[in-house]
Amino acid sequence: MPVQQRLCILGSTGSIGVSTLDVVARHPDRFSVHALSAHSRIESLAEQAARHAARVVIVPDDAARARFKAAWPAGRPLPEIRQGAQALADTAADPEVTAVMAAIVGAAGLPGALAAARAGKRVLLANKEALVAAGSLFMRAVRESGAELLPIDSEHNAIFQCLPQSADRARAPASPAEGVRRLLLTASGGPFRRTALDQLESVTPDQACAHPNWRMGRKISVDSATMLNKGLEVIEAHWLFAMPMERIQVVVHPQSVVHSMVEYLDGSILAQLGQPDMRTPIAYGLGYPERIDGGVGLLELARLGRLDFETPDLARFPCLRLSFDALGQGQGACIALNAANEVAVDGFLRGRIRYTQIPSIIEHCLDDSMAHGSQTPSSLAEILDLDARTRSVAAGFCQAR
Ligand code: NAD
Ligand code: MG
Repeated sequence: MPVQQRLCILGSTGSIGVSTLDVVARHPDRFSVHALSAHSRIESLAEQAARHAARVVIVPDDAARARFKAAWPAGRPLPEIRQGAQALADTAADPEVTAVMAAIVGAAGLPGALAAARAGKRVLLANKEALVAAGSLFMRAVRESGAELLPIDSEHNAIFQCLPQSADRARAPASPAEGVRRLLLTASGGPFRRTALDQLESVTPDQACAHPNWRMGRKISVDSATMLNKGLEVIEAHWLFAMPMERIQVVVHPQSVVHSMVEYLDGSILAQLGQPDMRTPIAYGLGYPERIDGGVGLLELARLGRLDFETPDLARFPCLRLSFDALGQGQGACIALNAANEVAVDGFLRGRIRYTQIPSIIEHCLDDSMAHGSQTPSSLAEILDLDARTRSVAAGFCQAR
């Protein structure tokens, strides 16, 4: 009999959260749901909590608590309803919980993910922004607490699978794996890989969110269009695998079948292939070190016919260059990059700024962060302060336009 994992899923109503519950439901002998959280889709949260018999739910405020109660099926015992941002971190660290899926979008997910790491849980990390903002603090927490860190982002999950199979590879390595030359991160190139450059100024949020291969939340979909997502992933790979930036290469691969690769000193390249379906990395993380069914169909390579690879065009994707710049500048710049992007993408999705203003707002915020001296925050409070400061600078730029 496998050990039962008692799960806390932070961001259960999002794209990753829903896929996680889909995999969980296939293995009632392995997983039980202790806690679920949602920020806005409270009726979906009630439906999920009832279906998976969650014991705890976390909602943002009084209004959401009332909505949850109104949506709850009559006659069923109500789960414990916790409330507010602190409850996310407290529940992630709850002794009842053995594994935490960190699937909140943005830096808002950092406190919960960090609490899970500090409490020594198995951390299934989808929330890449947590590592971008707090890489050093987060990895140290994993090492000191004895947590297990399993990357869920498909590229990092692929790399994790292709790295040497050492027993402690989920324990936050402090140096690059022996024998590895480079990490090759694949990128689809998003919906605008071939769009004429002069048309980018007028693309709409729905066009930006129409990813050719993946169905995801709207923020990460826009990030994929700008390739800022790949920039965040370079930073994420740097921390997860203790890999210097110079040894991380981005390769455009429009089919999204090769999820990423590890290149070894002897010239071998190991790749992980699969359908573009997040249930594969989620099932890997949930079942690790065993393999479990994630409900993903077969990949018919012969029907696919070909796999293409290209060098990313930095003129088309300035956000990728800005991400490398930020990583070179240090932790403070990475916090600014992420926060500025969150504000700019939100502005774009709300129709307040144009798509092409996203990189300019990020660049202004990076300049501003450098002008204030490149800080290296060492605590969660300092990270959140720097994040908030950049958000107000970025919001000013969004309004000024
Ligand atoms: P989503 O927008 O579909 O879902 C986000 C979830 O977070 C929702 O449950 C929402 O209620 C919750 N949430 C949003 N703002 C919150 C806040 N301020 N406080 C608390 N909860 C909040 O996003 P997604 O596509 O599922 O992505 C989640 C994370 O996983 C992101 O960090 C993303 O980069 C990463 N990721 C997603 C995919 C994918 O295929 N969707 C792939 C790789 C990595
Ligand atoms: Mg990814």
